[in-house]
Amino acid sequence: MKLNSPRGTADIYGEDIKYRDFITGCARKLFHTFGYNEIITPAFEHTELFSRGIGEGTDIVQKEMYTFRDRKGRSLTLRPEGTAPVVRAILEKNLLSQKVPLKLFYIGNMFRYERPQKGRMREFWQVGVESSGPDNPLMDAEVIWLLNLFFNNLGFRDLNLLVNSMGCPDCRMDYVVYLKEYLKGNLPGLCAECRSRYEKNPLRIFDCKVPECKKIMEDAPKIGGYLCGTCREHFLKVQGYLNELGIDYRIKHNLVRGFDYYTRTVFEVVSGKLESAQNALGGGGRYDNLISQFGGPDTPAIGFAVGIDRTAMLMKQSGIGYKDPLKGPRFYMVSLDEGSYDYALKILRVLRETGAASDINYTVRSIKTELKNALRNGYDYMIIIGENEAADRTVTLKSLDTHKQSIMKFEDFNDEILKITGNGRS
Ligand code: AMP
Repeated sequence: MKLNSPRGTADIYGEDIKYRDFITGCARKLFHTFGYNEIITPAFEHTELFSRGIGEGTDIVQKEMYTFRDRKGRSLTLRPEGTAPVVRAILEKNLLSQKVPLKLFYIGNMFRYERPQKGRMREFWQVGVESSGPDNPLMDAEVIWLLNLFFNNLGFRDLNLLVNSMGCPDCRMDYVVYLKEYLKGNLPGLCAECRSRYEKNPLRIFDCKVPECKKIMEDAPKIGGYLCGTCREHFLKVQGYLNELGIDYRIKHNLVRGFDYYTRTVFEVVSGKLESAQNALGGGGRYDNLISQFGGPDTPAIGFAVGIDRTAMLMKQSGIGYKDPLKGPRFYMVSLDEGSYDYALKILRVLRETGAASDINYTVRSIKTELKNALRNGYDYMIIIGENEAADRTVTLKSLDTHKQSIMKFEDFNDEILKITGNGRS
């Protein structure tokens, strides 16, 4: 029987792991400097969390959720996104009583039943931040700055940052009337799906990738023109702070994002090098009513999520390398006879306890074979232990780069390894 991984999933290994480690490592470090702490939430939640949180009319809830009943008949769903679970955890654990603003970040796998294609998977990974507390536009600017800096730190230089305001529910209600008015005359030109979106959730039509729909939406009234005074002022301040921070962004008037919970500021980072259907590397927005909608205190919040897989893919495609935090010389410990294994193990212990990547030969073979093996596997050093070394308590260290060989006392080996690896504590 041949078993394949399910459609839309991937095994991640080899170089891809290096890219992921680099991306998540950069995220952890940077998010820490902005005052965020990590939270890990479960990979599945009660279905209701998402249907209520993301919105019944959204594509995700309508057709993309992996929903199943457990053995007791409860309806559970593999998380399609990270915000609703974080909000659930904040309320359940009463985290807002400890700290406001509450700044959390997460790294996790998400699941959406979408049509798999390049950059679009059914299981994919995201890193994201959620900041709850102030509705100060300074927070919007700070979160957008963080997203921008994150991509800069990874090495990207040619991404586009798009920003818009979707207003509050009041301005949106007014706006939707005008939008529907405009769409009414264009209904026959829309795809079948958008015609059904017209009643349920006309804002979603902006997300449609069908060229005819896109064309119609280009001339549609834009929400920016219908913002109430407070929302307009909020958005202007966000822009002011972004300008102050020297951030290069563009206002995209028809940017609306796929979840119902967004209010006011929304933003996205896109690449011209990816196909337009999945050209966003990350995005987010403000969700001022989600926490109260789940029964929590009236607490505005804002966040973003970045797709790790898609980011890694674009890094590779753009020739952006990763820095390998695990990089360092690798040692190959070779015991030349069975009797020396006890001593060899002592040496291996020094290597591993000083943080040096190291392996040992499990089968005794000739030194010539071992040397070939070491070179083929890219080791940097070989440590040779035979009867003499075991008897004298010495270590023979051979550089596979210079082929220089040195013999040292066991007592000096620890310091020598720290010197070579740079792993000593300063
Ligand atoms: P969203 O949660 O839809 O705002 O998506 C945020 C980011 O997650 C996107 O910009 C992508 O980088 C990534 N993403 C979303 N859906 C997928 C998917 N199906 N496959 C791979 N990456 C995805």
